[in-house]
Amino acid sequence: MPTGLPARVSGTTRFRSGSGGPGGARGPPVTLEVVGLEPDADRAPPRRVGEAQEERPRRPPIPADQILAAATRIADHLLEIQTRVNGQIDTALAELLPDVQRRLGVEGVEPVDLSDLVNARITGSSVVVTPAAVATVVPISAASATTTRAGRRAVTAILDGSDDRLTVIAGPCSIHDPGAALEYAGFLARMRERHGEDLEIVMRTYTEKPRTEVDWKGFAYDPFLDGSSRISVGLVATRILMCSITGLGVPVAAEPLNALTPQYVNGLVTYNGVGARNVTDQTARERVSGFSSVIGFKNSPEGSIEAAIQAVRTARAPHEFLGVDHHGISAQLSTTGNETGHVILRGDKTGPNYSAAHIADTKRQLAGRGLPEVVVVDASHGNSQKNHLRQIDVVRDLAGQVAGGEQAIRGVMVESNLVAGRQDLDQRQPEALEYGKSVTDACVDPATTEAMLAELADAVRARRAGMPASR
Ligand code: PEP
Ligand code: MN
Repeated sequence: MPTGLPARVSGTTRFRSGSGGPGGARGPPVTLEVVGLEPDADRAPPRRVGEAQEERPRRPPIPADQILAAATRIADHLLEIQTRVNGQIDTALAELLPDVQRRLGVEGVEPVDLSDLVNARITGSSVVVTPAAVATVVPISAASATTTRAGRRAVTAILDGSDDRLTVIAGPCSIHDPGAALEYAGFLARMRERHGEDLEIVMRTYTEKPRTEVDWKGFAYDPFLDGSSRISVGLVATRILMCSITGLGVPVAAEPLNALTPQYVNGLVTYNGVGARNVTDQTARERVSGFSSVIGFKNSPEGSIEAAIQAVRTARAPHEFLGVDHHGISAQLSTTGNETGHVILRGDKTGPNYSAAHIADTKRQLAGRGLPEVVVVDASHGNSQKNHLRQIDVVRDLAGQVAGGEQAIRGVMVESNLVAGRQDLDQRQPEALEYGKSVTDACVDPATTEAMLAELADAVRARRAGMPASR
């Protein structure tokens, strides 16, 4: 796949299928060394691309406490290779471009000193791993692919009304410790088992955080939590973590904040929620119009639902825009538009927007703009006024609305973690953190979450009982 945004990126003649990238040539099977995830896998024999599935040795899942170490090892290998590849690109261009200059009559132009005009505030530029390389050494298992495929199908069906359950997107405000994240995923796996008839539970696995001002930007950017900002390690670790969570059968939700990060987790995310701070961003709307996952848009921080509605309409349309391909090289992307787009009500600084009156008003606005009357409600953020315990009241109110027959409510988002509350991260002392507690927004604990899920499941059953069977 050339773009990292496969399913909804329309096939154009720009890419030759099977070429491995724009302009690439089809060739014989390539032999490549696979950088393994286990400590001494570098000595494993080379593997042939295209080998029959059953002949491939099975790679054991990486233990939770070794994800960062494995990600570091993988990133270091890949950075070495990428540095060489970049050198080869420079060499090829240095060889080819003079001829282009000559043919265009622009050769021999006196070079101009631009050092004061360009990169004036860039203090460093280093190589990063590419999506294609990371995907090759951290492949998605059949079990993970099944989880994501089923998760996307289920959430899509809930949103289009052909599945009468409720989607619940639960999990930490942000991931900062893969071990704790996997322990939480184990809890959600049990909850999925318990409530599968009524709820499609997806885990918030947010590794990029939009910040109101300067702050820690998330595990993908600073995985060691100490300001060392090893982005390549963070991207690899995010992918390994999402592979592990989906490997447990738990579908994953994320916030696609940066233009490039989604490609590193391509095929692993079931639900992408565009955050309040980005909902008006044209480039975010364009990108998600090509996502294979389900997409939602929060109302803006000022409470504008219209901003989210505009985003839904924009992302439903096809787009042509500038992005990068799976090698991280600039590419023009062509998309089909994403029909799963919907509004997420998250309240704002001045108050919540989850009440029956707010839902009714949002339905009117959606219908007025020709959109289905469908919402997901975030129990946290503006709706909890940042008090995690108020999420309990929000969920209770939503459960009441659902039980009373409200059809528009198709999903609920909850911020939940192993330990209730939140703590400040001191990047000079990350080892001082308490295990399992959020370093961004305050969360409810598993016991509270368990009670909320039971309430929501009861509400779905009540709604189902009051309606003609639709499943
Ligand atoms: C979040 O989901 O943690 C978040 C930052 O939400 P919002 O964009 O609604 O503030
Ligand atoms: Mn949050």
